[in-house]
Amino acid sequence: MKINIPSTAIMVTEKCTLRCKLCLAYSPYYSSYKTMDIEQAKMTLNTYFQMVDTVNKISITGGEPLLNGDLGEIIREIYKYENQILDEIIMVTNGTILLKETLLQILKCNPKVKVIINNYGEISKYAEQNYQDLKKWDIRSVLYDENNRYGWIDCRNHDLKHKTERDKERQAQSCAFFQGKKYVINRGKLYTCTRSAYRIQENVIPYTENDYIDLLDNDTDIMQKREKLFALTKLKYTMSCAYCNGLIENSKKYKAAEQLKS
Ligand code: SF4
Repeated sequence: MKINIPSTAIMVTEKCTLRCKLCLAYSPYYSSYKTMDIEQAKMTLNTYFQMVDTVNKISITGGEPLLNGDLGEIIREIYKYENQILDEIIMVTNGTILLKETLLQILKCNPKVKVIINNYGEISKYAEQNYQDLKKWDIRSVLYDENNRYGWIDCRNHDLKHKTERDKERQAQSCAFFQGKKYVINRGKLYTCTRSAYRIQENVIPYTENDYIDLLDNDTDIMQKREKLFALTKLKYTMSCAYCNGLIENSKKYKAAEQLKS
């Protein structure tokens, strides 16, 4: 049994410099904020890369990853598994913090690295400069702004929407996140998407242990975790999908990064 996962995002912090109303990771809405340190990163990555054979893309996300003081070390730790990462190691940033030379040096070390910079206008005051610096350092990067980004969706309603098995399956099958198996790791657990992660962590929906994998759980060995992951890849939906409109073909799109008033 070989396990390839198309995409896994590692949420290295839940904190952000912005307060986007429609944040898909729900960063402004957490009741308390956690940041991954290097020791947690080592344990989490070690288990994850024993569980999977390969992953196409690893993304480093948040919140805003540049708020994590251990980010450079965490990226170096990810590099240790580069043979299992088939395509890309992506870091996503919102353009509010200037990239430091020490981090550019680390990013430069690996040709699989790509940096995605979001430019939300005035609030992303370092987006353009970061993009130019990355070009200067010959590090692959993409700048997303009003001209080339996808519209945002609104996943803030956590009411039960799909009640029958058929409806839940239909929702998951038409959701781009579910179809793309865009998994996420946060607080040592692997979830099938950031909506599922937030709803389970914040206890806003009912869920079962089948909806996530606790990577740091010492009571289950790697073979059991692999079996659980294999089962997760075969699910027709997760509990969160019943409470979700997901990203479907006709999802209503909104302006990016509208800020909540504090
Ligand atoms: S329907 Fe919602 S919970 Fe299910 S995969 Fe899509 S975004 Fe995640």
